[in-house]
Amino acid sequence: MAQRLEPMPTDWRRALAVVAHPDDLEYGCASAVATWTDAGREVSYLMATRGEAGIDTLDPAACGPVREREERASAAVVGVSSVEFLDHADGVVEYGTALRRDIAAAIRRHRPELVITLNPDDTWGGTYWNTPDHRAVGRAVLDAAGDAGNRWIFPDTDAAPWNGVRWVAVAGSNSPTHAVDVTDGLARGVRSLLEHRAYIEALTDQDPEVYARELIEGSAREAAEIFDGRPAVTFRLFPR
Ligand SMILES: [Zn+2]
Repeated sequence: MAQRLEPMPTDWRRALAVVAHPDDLEYGCASAVATWTDAGREVSYLMATRGEAGIDTLDPAACGPVREREERASAAVVGVSSVEFLDHADGVVEYGTALRRDIAAAIRRHRPELVITLNPDDTWGGTYWNTPDHRAVGRAVLDAAGDAGNRWIFPDTDAAPWNGVRWVAVAGSNSPTHAVDVTDGLARGVRSLLEHRAYIEALTDQDPEVYARELIEGSAREAAEIFDGRPAVTFRLFPR
């Protein structure tokens, strides 16, 4: 059995989740977001792209607005009303100062103590190759948490520097350190993923409800094995 995970910190008020695509947070993390917003914490979402290259049968010009709508509906299910899009191009997001600047500017605007992102490693589980967008955005988020606090880096953003990010939590990490008990958020986590109906229907022949439930409940059960038997969402926590 792997090492037991620590509970995620709870002494914070505001979180900003920054990921590459609509649906990235709904593949697990949303159940944790539901438990956080239940406790009165404020969570905002920032997408680097609109996910417009995510559905093979749909032209990007038509796809972007569909995926944006689905993301806003997903967020609402777990108590998130602030959803922003940076409009980097889906599939070809470039790691670099332009991306770091956009994310640092958002961190300065939202002033979160906790920043959340998705696995930026080369792989999922060692053999499933990660996407370029996830690698680029995840790395840029970890870097931008520091950039946001330095007034000499990106000095021309609208909001003032914010050096209050205490942790960056990486969801879907191959080597998690922390977890959140999602007993009370799991059902909403499933419904949140189900809001990506156009995406799921293009992805699989499985019934969307069965697909979403099996996926979200399955990964929470798997995490329970290293979190005292409690259904959980796991994170690798980077303190600052
Ligand atoms: Zn993605």
